[in-house]
Amino acid sequence: MTCAKCKQKFSYKDILKAIMCYKLICKNCKKKYKVPALYRLTISILFALPVFFQIYLINIFSYYVIIMYLGYCIVVVLISSLFVKFIEEQS
Ligand SMILES: [Zn+2]
Repeated sequence: MTCAKCKQKFSYKDILKAIMCYKLICKNCKKKYKVPALYRLTISILFALPVFFQIYLINIFSYYVIIMYLGYCIVVVLISSLFVKFIEEQS
């Protein structure tokens, strides 16, 4: 993905960080982008999903569930980076 204003290319790291805080700022021209509400909702549902099954997961995996959840969060961020879109923030 590149900046619409100055064509500066965003690094993969910037995009991963943007997924976790739902906003992206161009380092070059300071243009702000945000993740649209629909994508924000999808990402938060993905993050929250294992919480609904935590009782069952803890029964099966015991305290390893914490490590598994961390791994799951990394996977969610990586998957999100494939489909997420950013829109320009009106200032
Ligand atoms: Zn820019």
